[in-house]
Amino acid sequence: MNIHRSDFLVIGAGISGAAAAAQLADGGTVTMIEMEERPGYHSTGRSAALYTPNYGPAIVRAVISASVEFYRDPPTGFTEHPIFSPRQALTFVGAGEEGRIDEFMQAATPATPMQEISPAHACELAPLLRREAVARAALDPHVMDMDAHAIHLGYLKMFKARGGNLATDQRIVGLDRSGGLWRATSAGGDVFEAPIMINAAGAWADEIGRMAGLAPIGLQPKRRTAIIIAGDPALTPHNMPAIDDGVTEAYVKPDAGKLMASLGDATPSPACDAQPEDIDMAMIVDWLERTSHLTVRRIEHSWAGLRSFVADDCPVVGFDPGSDGFFWLAGQGGYGIMLASALGRITSDLIRSGSISAALTDKGISESALSPARCQTAML
Ligand SMILES: Cc1cc2nc3c(=O)[nH]c(=O)nc-3n(C[C@H](O)[C@H](O)[C@H](O)COP(=O)(O)OP(=O)(O)OC[C@H]3O[C@@H](n4cnc5c(N)ncnc54)[C@H](O)[C@@H]3O)c2cc1C
Repeated sequence: MNIHRSDFLVIGAGISGAAAAAQLADGGTVTMIEMEERPGYHSTGRSAALYTPNYGPAIVRAVISASVEFYRDPPTGFTEHPIFSPRQALTFVGAGEEGRIDEFMQAATPATPMQEISPAHACELAPLLRREAVARAALDPHVMDMDAHAIHLGYLKMFKARGGNLATDQRIVGLDRSGGLWRATSAGGDVFEAPIMINAAGAWADEIGRMAGLAPIGLQPKRRTAIIIAGDPALTPHNMPAIDDGVTEAYVKPDAGKLMASLGDATPSPACDAQPEDIDMAMIVDWLERTSHLTVRRIEHSWAGLRSFVADDCPVVGFDPGSDGFFWLAGQGGYGIMLASALGRITSDLIRSGSISAALTDKGISESALSPARCQTAML
């Protein structure tokens, strides 16, 4: 039996675990444990990689705005290319649903306003759209493409450069605490010990909590399916905005010379290696062919991934109130790439100093809005 001792254990090497582990490794020994052979196999490797500042509840938007500063200007060597590239997003609604555009524009954060555009202008920006499908439209000029892989890799490199230890192919199957230490035992029998443990296990976060004997946060993974199809230079120029159907939440966007499309589905699922289902792919194609001039002859690639939410759709970041040294970093929903940088800083702040730094609280981020206690109480 191998026993590994460090100051901090991070379970899960997706983008959330990697960002937190990189921060914690600056001044402590950290072991990050991943059950797969490579980090990023689950949700982190399956996102749409969009930066959408007008998405989600107020606390989510505040954390997104705190992450942006890092993504716009990461430290030298973090990535080789800029993390953001321009995209924009165009939301359209059909006849009878016009009022929804007012709702979207009113819900936009004042710092990132949306603007109404005419249906004719919408079809000029996105020639694939059928004119009759667009009764009203609005443009969000702040939406950008994000290089999710580069962010994840950047944090893994930072973690390694700071002396962090990544243990892959180590599924944690048992947790207990004694003598002031958490002991995490892997399926292969290795033991990892530390006084503080960070639960960044994505869709499996409640399973990890249960292993530790803690109250669940009520995490619900939801499956979302996506397909890649060929574009058409006349209908889908590479600089076309991402197109959102404001009623169904389906979307399509340029993706590395192709198009990525999704129904925006959110089907409750157990924590698992999510796979695309034929019916969901057929429905994406049906939506595309009804709302656009595209004819889908072949799906070149498809995948599904899990977005995991608690009841209020806000992330869960903080020490468990019922146990020593157990820290939750979960519930990142459909925003985890955007949130990762700031949630990593919040994790490090709370663990090292017991409070969130002023630079983050000034943005409206509070400990209570993120605390696991709010979810555990709601579950009683
Ligand atoms: C289709 C889709 C589109 C999305 N689009 C966007 C977007 O445009 N923008 C955005 O910001 N976000 C988006 N997201 C959300 C984003 O991908 C997630 O919020 C984010 O990746 C969550 O990261 P994570 O590190 O928390 O989870 P994960 O990446 O799932 O990482 C958790 C890790 O924990 C490991 N683990 C679990 N249990 C154990 C165990 N017992 N032992 C050891 N390791 C374990 C898993 O193997 C996994 O690698 C999208 C998600 C999907 C599915």
